[in-house]
This record gives sequence, C-alpha cells and structure tokens, in this order.
Amino acid sequence: MTCSFELDHYEVLLDAAAAGGYRFALFDEPPERGDVLLRHDVDLSLDAALQMAELEARAGVRATYFLMTQSVFYNLASPEGLRLLNRLRELGHGVGLHAVWPGAELDERFDPIVAWHNPDPDYMSEPVNGAVNVMQAPYFDPDHYRSDSNHHWRYGCPHPALARGEFEWLQLLVHPEIWVYPGSTMRETMTAMLDAERERRYDLLADDRIDLS
Ligand SMILES: [Zn+2]
Ligand SMILES: [Zn+2]
Repeated sequence: MTCSFELDHYEVLLDAAAAGGYRFALFDEPPERGDVLLRHDVDLSLDAALQMAELEARAGVRATYFLMTQSVFYNLASPEGLRLLNRLRELGHGVGLHAVWPGAELDERFDPIVAWHNPDPDYMSEPVNGAVNVMQAPYFDPDHYRSDSNHHWRYGCPHPALARGEFEWLQLLVHPEIWVYPGSTMRETMTAMLDAERERRYDLLADDRIDLS
C-alpha cells in the first residue's frame, strides 16, 4: 500500500487506529494509554476542514480543530466560518484556538485549548493562562507525537504502527488541506487548493453583486 496524502489514505489511517484498539480523545483530560489525540491545525482552508470533519464523523471519529482568528487566508467571522463552527459542534468535534503569538484571546467559540501557529521553541511548550497548550506536558511528548507538516511524516506514515498498537498513546497532527487537495508534493497540493479557491471566489464575487458578465 502506498501512503499518499489523500482522503482515501486518511480513512486507512483512521481505520488503522481503530484496528490498533485506540480511542479518539479530546484535549480535555491528560492522555491515557490507548488514546489518539487527533489534532487539526486549520492554517489555510475552512472548506478542507469541513470536508475532513464530515469524513471523520462518518467514521465515528472525534478530533479537535484549531481555528485561527488572525488568519491571512480565511475569515472565521464570515458566513463560511460560522457554518464550520456550528457544524464542528454538531458533529461532536472539539474546537480550539490556533493562536498567533503572543495573542491567545479565547472567547465562547473555543474550548480552553490553544495551539500556536508556527511557534518558536522558546514559548512553544510554555503554559498558557486559562487554557491547555497542546504542546505542553502531559499532552505533548516528542515520542508520542506525529505530524504531517508540509507533506512529510518525519518518521514515515504512522498507519502501520497504529494498526499494530505500537504507540502507548499519540498526539497526531493532521493539516486538512494537505489531504483534501490532490498533489504529490506540497507545491502541487497548494496549487490545487489555489485553483479551487479561485472558483470559490468567483462564486463569492457573484454573491456580492459583482458584475462578471
Ligand atoms: Zn500510511
Ligand atoms: Zn498553523
């Protein structure tokens, strides 16, 4: 089996965790043996997050989505952002703040959980007032952590190890846009995302009564 960054293989990854006997936990209590803390940092695309959330719900999986209020790529206060927030709650997923240092302004949209966007090492694992920092102990430990950053698993795709139950517990960071948009490199995937975004923006322009004739 090839370990691609495609939704089909994401389902294989989720199935592997189930086969390995893991349960999908949120960040509301310290991880225990057998927990997979499935974390999604939503860096670029609300639509990709929504597609992944729906797929997980169909698979009976709960994850925590970390959403930005200061993104240059999306607006969480837009109708699309509000729809995503509502739908994540309906599906039973957790919602945390994907914060840009040093601001971690939690409001009623968020559970008290923070994941810093592109953090520097000096504050990455420091406690955050009134919230769990996902990169602080006991939620984070380098031996119990895997990330798909930039289309690359540093230690290979974790699905075989999950299926064999090799992790005592695992925090698994998955970026939805990497899996939802096709491509065999980050550049190809980002190009596919931008192509989709262009179409989406034409529709938004029409909705905004812009004359496209
Ligand atoms: Zn794999
Ligand atoms: Zn990020």
